[in-house]
Amino acid sequence: MQIKLTFPGQRIGVREMEPVAEECYKRSKDFFDKHLDSVEIIVLFRRSQMDRFVGFKTPEWLVGAEKGGKIAIFSPSVFEKVSNHKKSEFVFVLTHEITHLFLRKLFVFKQPTWLIEGVAGIVPKQRSINPQMKSKLISFERMHTDRLWMKNHNYHQVFTFVAYLIKTFGKKKLLSLMGELEELNSYNSFLHTFNTIYGQSFEEIEKGWRDKLP
Ligand SMILES: [Zn+2]
Repeated sequence: MQIKLTFPGQRIGVREMEPVAEECYKRSKDFFDKHLDSVEIIVLFRRSQMDRFVGFKTPEWLVGAEKGGKIAIFSPSVFEKVSNHKKSEFVFVLTHEITHLFLRKLFVFKQPTWLIEGVAGIVPKQRSINPQMKSKLISFERMHTDRLWMKNHNYHQVFTFVAYLIKTFGKKKLLSLMGELEELNSYNSFLHTFNTIYGQSFEEIEKGWRDKLP
């Protein structure tokens, strides 16, 4: 596996960044127990570079993205300047984006978006229990597509839910579900596939998770 780091217009930081990127890659590799041939990471320094990479005006919280098999991420040296994230979150964000790359290469499904984001959050262990989460839950149907996710995303909720699925039913089952999902499954076809793999309805399992929330 080869990690390729690019710094447009800057020559600093490759030496320090390489071992960090290797470590982030290893976390994803261990989760899926699979390799990627290469990982291309473009390290950015200005918000306008990120906007150009994704093709739209990005919000302040967005610090990394995966597109066309490449990752763009802000250098940790500018994290606090260009976003509301702390510098110490860099490793989580890079692992999150590398996990997106693995998901894209290993599976065909592109929705539910909440499932993709949940898995990308679980690998770097980004989950945290937000005590107010229970009162702010969003229906999973309203986070099913990319467009809905941009409007209604709840990262805490989906990290916690995916963590619950793995803890309660095992990682293998989750990987089987992801392997069975079609590229653009509707919400109903997702429910059907979920039921087939888990032997219980999504609704029942979601209720079990809600009941356990603090
Ligand atoms: Zn993501």
